[in-house]
Amino acid sequence: HIRPVPPGDALGSRPDGRLPPSGASGDRPDDPASPYDVVVVGSVNADLIVRVDRRPAPGETVFGGDLAVHPGGKGANQAVAAARLGARVALLGRVGSDANGEFLRRALSGDGVDLGHLLETPGPSGVALITVGPDGDNSIIVSPAANGRLSEDDVAAAAGLLDRARIVSLQLETPLATVLAAARAAARVVFNLSPPAPVPGELLARCDPLVVNEHEAEFLLGERGAPDRQARALLALGPRSVVVTLGADGAVVAEPGAVTAVPSPRVAPVDTTGAGDAFTGALTWRLSRGDDLVTATEFAVRVGAASVRKPGAQGSYPYLEELKVL
Ligand code: ADP
Repeated sequence: HIRPVPPGDALGSRPDGRLPPSGASGDRPDDPASPYDVVVVGSVNADLIVRVDRRPAPGETVFGGDLAVHPGGKGANQAVAAARLGARVALLGRVGSDANGEFLRRALSGDGVDLGHLLETPGPSGVALITVGPDGDNSIIVSPAANGRLSEDDVAAAAGLLDRARIVSLQLETPLATVLAAARAAARVVFNLSPPAPVPGELLARCDPLVVNEHEAEFLLGERGAPDRQARALLALGPRSVVVTLGADGAVVAEPGAVTAVPSPRVAPVDTTGAGDAFTGALTWRLSRGDDLVTATEFAVRVGAASVRKPGAQGSYPYLEELKVL
């Protein structure tokens, strides 16, 4: 779904429709000392997807549709979302030595993500086994495999990379100790508490912002509530700022002294898989360019909305020029 754009248009797109890596004036993207807009420390999974009429009971076998294999994992998704918008992105992660590892590497590199710190672990790559029911409902089993081996030592060895990151983007599909080590090494942390799990106050205190959906907000707070109240209550847990994403209703931003609702464009959703990752990837890119949090969120809801108009996760993420029509 790459929309070709004439060479030399206002966005500086290449003839193949891809955008060149961004860089503030003076950045030299090929210079090893030049900064990255975003370094994602996170997971890389192969999503194995089968449609079923119903799920098997224990001991039962059912037939499903044809297997679809897509690149996924929250870290990789967020890296691809930012890269497609034009960000200079590197991914610190681990894939296995299997065929999926090769497949995932190729997909990421095709999207322009810098893989100089994508490490290899002997054995299997991370996999998400996904069954999609007749109503489009997902049941997912994640096998972290290589993602589970991303270690504090890997973070220490990548100190030179993290030093050059304007934004370090983190999620919870890799070990918590690794996430915390990366947060400690980062100039600015965007942390997506997903999948939800208890985290130390020190990690929350480093978030600017903490990004959660409504379920993750409820997990942290232990109760439901109006989105603006939830956002304010999350801010009281210690992060420097908070964004709660609200699906079709957009997002709410909480910063000390201000809570701001940011509506999402109205679209006809086709598949909401990976919308939160599209949102977070876009948010990290805009923050790296110097946007304030509300302005960055106004951009990110457009990217989230664009992503739900197409099936899949990474396959649905827009290029910058596609946003003009939204
Ligand atoms: P998650 O995928 O983590 O559950 P959300 O469902 O809150 O996250 O979606 C993230 C963002 O994607 C929202 O803030 C919004 O911008 C966009 N989005 C998601 N669903 C829709 C929808 N049905 N219509 C328009 N935008 C949507």
